[in-house]
Amino acid sequence: MTLERESVLHSWCVQAEWNAPTVAGGEGAFFWDEQGRRYLDMSSLAECANLGHQHPAVVRAIREQAERLCFVTAAWGAEPRARLAERLLEKSGFEGGRVFFTLGGADANEHAVKFARQAGLKPRGWVLTRDRSYHGASYAAMALSGDARVSHQVDAADFHVDHVPPPYAYRCPFGSASDAECAERSARHVGQAIDARGGDEVAAVLMEPDAGTNGIVAPDGYWPRLREETASRGVYLIADEVMSGFGRCGEWFAWQRHGEAGRPDLMTLAKGLTGAHLPLGAVVLSREVASRLEHERLETGLTYCGHPLSCAAGLAAVQAYEDDGLVERSRALGARMRAELEAMQGRVPVIGDVRGGHGLFAVVELVKDRATREPVSAWAQTHPSMEALVRRGRVGGVSFAVRGNLVLLAPPLVIREGDLLGALTLLERLLATLEWS
Ligand code: PLP
Repeated sequence: MTLERESVLHSWCVQAEWNAPTVAGGEGAFFWDEQGRRYLDMSSLAECANLGHQHPAVVRAIREQAERLCFVTAAWGAEPRARLAERLLEKSGFEGGRVFFTLGGADANEHAVKFARQAGLKPRGWVLTRDRSYHGASYAAMALSGDARVSHQVDAADFHVDHVPPPYAYRCPFGSASDAECAERSARHVGQAIDARGGDEVAAVLMEPDAGTNGIVAPDGYWPRLREETASRGVYLIADEVMSGFGRCGEWFAWQRHGEAGRPDLMTLAKGLTGAHLPLGAVVLSREVASRLEHERLETGLTYCGHPLSCAAGLAAVQAYEDDGLVERSRALGARMRAELEAMQGRVPVIGDVRGGHGLFAVVELVKDRATREPVSAWAQTHPSMEALVRRGRVGGVSFAVRGNLVLLAPPLVIREGDLLGALTLLERLLATLEWS
């Protein structure tokens, strides 16, 4: 058999350096390789396997749907598609709204922008997103992203995208002294950026309501203030819930932590939508936005949008989150994880900041010096000891995700508490013994 290393182009890596074990199976928070080595998955792979690996109810639903009907296009109805749309509208409280199904997160964000522009009668309207954000790797999604890894590939202005500074309270771009001040100044700046373009020229603000793989967690007051800034200017607010949705941040959708004060006009979903059992994304539109499109032609769509197999997986996934109480579980274990990490911070000097923990998503930011907050490596370079941490983690049976000077902790919501605490103990040992200068 040809080695995968020699035949496949892999994403986000140097081809010659790719040398990963082949995964042969998984169950719950664990997966294992061909040699039978088991790994506790502390990142839900790409923060997507929220239900754990091979959730039996989702696997069963896929099998049953495959036997009934694998595929019809959007020109025809498909029962799991309709039922999943209904569940998403119910869970988000978007009564009277509509759902557009996509293949994943990037095209969900692209479509959300298309719908916001069309509904707002601003066909080329500007979209505001944040520096250091990640919204996907298709061309328009790269333009939406403020991601240094891809910024040379695309000129955001060509796509009518403006980037604004993120509410990064630990290193506030506005020099704030507290989380609350950073939230206020960052949100106010978005309003000013809309005014600088002119409200009639800006179609939408697209941002993550809580956390992202950039490791920035919006301080508490930010999202509701953003809602005020956008609503008062007639600009749609799009919540990118691709990573933060489906319990990851302790709610079905992260904006719900703020109640009605946080309700966006549109939101985008993927990842946890099927718990990564099959590819699927979605744009959920409010009644107001959907009604503006009701008699308009939508000149868009991809062959596999609303694929019945993926929708059946999504439907079973939503049911599994509900039946297994995973949103509440994530909230409780997330708080526990955060408390453990804060205690660890007291013992391990390289930990500069601990963020998140609204659900099972937390960020550990590593610094050379707590007083100066100098990162162990300049963003977004990866310190060699970070790579060692990943290697040694695997040897210890734990799969950790790192990015730049951050360790991102996002295990499946089904993880056993004992396994979680065991992984944190290993993390502490690695952070305390690796060389960070
Ligand atoms: N938006 C956010 C917040 C993400 O974290 C990601 C993926 O990591 C995406 C969008 C892109 O999703 P996909 O990889 O399914 O295109």
